[in-house]
Amino acid sequence: MRRLFFLLIALALLCPVFGQAEDDAPIWDYPIDPLTLRNAEGYLTLANRDHLLDKSYAPEDLVTVTARHISGKFQLRKAAHDALLLMFDAAKEDGCTLYVKSAYRSYQTQYTMYNNRLNKNHGKDDGWVSYPGASDHQTGLGLDVLNYAWTQKDGMNSDFARDKEAQWMAAHCHEYGFVIRYQEDKQEITGINFEPWHLRYVGTACAKYMFENNLSLEEFTEERLAYIADFNARGGDFDAYCKALTTLPDPTATGQVDGDGDAEISFFQP
Ligand SMILES: [Zn+2]
Repeated sequence: MRRLFFLLIALALLCPVFGQAEDDAPIWDYPIDPLTLRNAEGYLTLANRDHLLDKSYAPEDLVTVTARHISGKFQLRKAAHDALLLMFDAAKEDGCTLYVKSAYRSYQTQYTMYNNRLNKNHGKDDGWVSYPGASDHQTGLGLDVLNYAWTQKDGMNSDFARDKEAQWMAAHCHEYGFVIRYQEDKQEITGINFEPWHLRYVGTACAKYMFENNLSLEEFTEERLAYIADFNARGGDFDAYCKALTTLPDPTATGQVDGDGDAEISFFQP
């Protein structure tokens, strides 16, 4: 009888272990965490000729750009602008003074710009102005950044890439969550000419990954979606997995909180 009692206790204690063993959900082994890849905040939103943003799409958290800019009023999504302020300070410390020339553009503005360009160019799309709905500027995360000399010129061209400010951005912008959205070696993929001045905020984890692996946003999007599809095909449930992660207790809050609100860390104290 006593033996049976201990057997039952042992089984009860082992149950959670068996429970985990039966759970054959695949292991998440992509170098970026699932909550970031889920793109709930839209920082990975892709806008191009094949992925048109809706006419009515406008980000909800636009803020007025206070970072150094040419005359005019500009807006960006808050996370992008916060990161931009940090990046401008760091660039300045390295002797590079940067200016915002263009930031968020509504669908309507893009529509007007595109048609003006077509009219000027005898109806031919030369790849310099994005099709309405296809502009990275409509996401509120894309912007054009120049040095002082180029703010004094009428147009832009890839000669800017030779200037130290452009080189500083190419080398460092990922540290602040930005990528050069339209790279020289990705023109076939992005469908847009090389624009060393056009930055796109994607968050630091993704920017670092895209920089290190030389991926355009198009390529990264394809890879991200393929990984999620494969995760589901291997028996995972990506949405449920993300949901479970968001409901887990904060891993940084390991201590219990006492009545005074102080974390109890006495376990590690003498
Ligand atoms: Zn641009």
